[in-house]
Amino acid sequence: MKVAVFSTKAYDRKFLSAANSPTQHELVFFEPRLNRDTAILAAGFPAVCVFVHDQVDAPTLELLASRGTRLVVLRCAGFNNVDLQAAADLGITVVRVPAYSPYGVAEHAVGLMLSLNRKIHRAYNRVREGNFSLDGLLGFNLHERTIGIVGTGKIGLILGQIMKGFGCNLLAYDVYRNPQLEALGGKYVELPELFANSDIISLHCPLTPETHHLINAKAIEQIKSGVMLINTSRGALIDTQAVIEGLKSGKIGYLGVDVYEQESELFFEDLSGEIIQDDIFQRLTTFPNVLITGHQAFFTAEALHNIAETTFANIADVEHGGPCANEIRPQVSA
Ligand code: NAD
Repeated sequence: MKVAVFSTKAYDRKFLSAANSPTQHELVFFEPRLNRDTAILAAGFPAVCVFVHDQVDAPTLELLASRGTRLVVLRCAGFNNVDLQAAADLGITVVRVPAYSPYGVAEHAVGLMLSLNRKIHRAYNRVREGNFSLDGLLGFNLHERTIGIVGTGKIGLILGQIMKGFGCNLLAYDVYRNPQLEALGGKYVELPELFANSDIISLHCPLTPETHHLINAKAIEQIKSGVMLINTSRGALIDTQAVIEGLKSGKIGYLGVDVYEQESELFFEDLSGEIIQDDIFQRLTTFPNVLITGHQAFFTAEALHNIAETTFANIADVEHGGPCANEIRPQVSA
């Protein structure tokens, strides 16, 4: 099948080309993101392959459909950037990669926790400048601390397993209970209880209308003073302005994020020579107790391999007219 692959970087080309060698689909790699302005590039392609920052909204889908596209292949799990209803109305099938790196994302969340707690990001710079002072680097033991996990699906469960290994107590919140998390000793509670009793809160639920700005001014009032907040899920789970106020007052003691609400303007690009116009993001970077990574939690060799393999398995399923287990339809929540 002829596939227009949007938002491609060198690493995408490498892993997708390797996985495509047995199937020999005709892949055409485009660096730009898919949106209403670039949809024309996909004219005559029955399939487009997209990632997290491509804008697969109704106008884009209409442009794609009018030029022959019948399949949208997501190289990611989250699909909050796709108008599923519009796709269904236009007869476009949408498939995704539901799991490619749950260990990678959970491990990255732990990396943020350890770095923030023991100030490894600050120590790295100090030592390079010959400053071996320990002032300001005081941390705390994770052992016997309470971690609140919001969203206990694939990634949240693995995080629970890792944190159990550190000797943490596990609190959890989800719309469905995961018996594997309970088997670890995790206790499901309502969000206010999780907020009030957790030393570390880590977000692993999808972005939906219900979870948008889950961490807002009201939630910050409820959290334990000095909490560590970790978000490797989706930026808009957090009201960044409210979190900045929480950091300024000291209510939030540490913030580690791999995602940011307006990240599509910034992440995955080298902007080191540019003037960044996003004042909220720039304010976040000024706090010593904030650690930001640019949506790299998934970024392991295993993940890129799994993404590529699942992408072509999905295309094969659809091409052969069979059901595709990874198809997403409008009624499924992201
Ligand atoms: P998953 O579907 O296995 O688990 C998500 C869990 O969230 C489910 O248990 C679900 O019941 C729960 N949930 C749904 N609505 C909820 C709500 N309103 N409140 C609380 N819990 C709710 O997904 P996963 O593979 O664990 O991934 C979790 C999220 O991580 C994804 O949605 C995606 O946004 C994000 N992610 C980020 C990266 C990255 O590189 N930073 C990579 C992969 C996934």
